[in-house]
Amino acid sequence: MSTAVFRVENVTKVYGTGDAAVYALRGVDATLYEGELSVVLGPSGSGKSTFLNILGGLDLASSGSVRFRDRDLTRASQRELTRFRRRHVGFVFQFYNLIPSLTARENVALVTEIADAPMKPEEALGMVGLGERLDHFPAQLSGGEQQRVAVARAIAKKPEVLLCDEPTGALDSQTGIAVLKAIDRINTELGTTTAIITHNAGIQAMAHRVFSFADGRIAQMIENETRIDPDELTW
Ligand code: ADP
Repeated sequence: MSTAVFRVENVTKVYGTGDAAVYALRGVDATLYEGELSVVLGPSGSGKSTFLNILGGLDLASSGSVRFRDRDLTRASQRELTRFRRRHVGFVFQFYNLIPSLTARENVALVTEIADAPMKPEEALGMVGLGERLDHFPAQLSGGEQQRVAVARAIAKKPEVLLCDEPTGALDSQTGIAVLKAIDRINTELGTTTAIITHNAGIQAMAHRVFSFADGRIAQMIENETRIDPDELTW
C-alpha cells in the first residue's frame, strides 16, 4: 500500500479582497503518494503554481487542509513553514536562479553547507549528468545544463519532496528532455516524491499520475498504467 505524503482537502486560495479578490483555487482535493512522480497540467492562470506553492509551504491556503505526513501545514507558523521547506522540500523553477559568480559545485555547496545530512555537491551534480562540469560557471553552461545544476542544488539535501514549476519552460525540447531525465532518475533512484508543472501535455507520459487543472480545480486525474522514458517523449 502506498503511503500518502501530502493530503490536500477542499483547499481554496483567494488573493486580495472585495472587488479585487482572485480565486486561484476553488476547492482542491488531492493525495500525493510516496515515491510518485506526478505531472500537473492546465492553462495559464488555472492555479497550478498556487497549488505547488501551498504544497511546498511557500504560501498558505485560505481554507481547507493540507497535511504533509502527520503535520498540518495549514496551521503552521512562518517559522515552522521555513523549517519544513528547508528540511523536506527541493524546488526547481523555470529560471535557474544560479549565482553567476559561483561555479556549479559552489552553487550546490551553498545548500549542502546548511543541510543536515546532504550529498556531496559532486555526487548531486553526477546524478544530473554534470560530473564533468563541476568547475564551470553558469555563463559557461547551456540553459539545460544550468537547469540541471538547479536540480542538483534542489536534491543535494536529499529532500523527501521535489517540486518543479515549469522546469523546461525556457528550454528547447532536446535540452528539456535532459532535465526531465535528471528529475526522473532522482525520482527512481532516491524515491523522491516529485511533482512537475508543465504546459507541455507531452510530458504527462512520463508520470505515474497526471492532475489537470482548470479554473482553480482539478478537472481530471489520470493514472498512467505504463510510463514512458523521458528519452521517448515528444512535444
Ligand atoms: P498557473 O500556475 O496555472 O498559471 P497561478 O496559480 O499562478 O496559475 O495563478 C492562479 C490565479 O491566481 C491567476 O489568476 C493569478 O493571476 C492569480 N494569482 C497568483 N498569485 C497571485 C498573487 N500573489 N496575487 C494575486 N493574484 C495571484
